[in-house]
Amino acid sequence: MSDCIFCKIAAGEIPSNKVYEDDQCLAFYDLSPQAPVHFLVIPKTHIPSAAAVDSSNSAVVGHIYEVIAKVAGQLGLDKGFRVVTNCGEEGGQTVGHLHFHVLAGRSLAWPPG
Ligand code: 5GP
Ligand code: ZN
Repeated sequence: MSDCIFCKIAAGEIPSNKVYEDDQCLAFYDLSPQAPVHFLVIPKTHIPSAAAVDSSNSAVVGHIYEVIAKVAGQLGLDKGFRVVTNCGEEGGQTVGHLHFHVLAGRSLAWPPG
């Protein structure tokens, strides 16, 4: 999508601090980190949110979870981490391109606000 900031990051039109990349997805550090380690994983195809995941596009979600496990291992997140997907206005989503936050490096409170 031409006006989507994460599509532009996936295309390399906006720079990002990359953690991992393959043909299906990209992981990069969040501009405004909420934990000592905070990166985002996005599909390269534009999926607006978790509410738009269906049988036609869900394979990339499984792939992204494989990537999260691999990158977490590479970064040594042995004490644990949290994967968060905000969805929609009340879910706190501010960028309309499906993304998975990976947060680590401190003890994370539960439940989130
Ligand atoms: P959401 O609020 O939709 O769950 O998460 C969007 C995230 O994207 C936020 O944590 C925000 O800091 C991050 N973000 C927004 N714009 C950019 C950007 O241009 N570059 C990077 N690296 N992160 C961004
Ligand atoms: Zn997009």
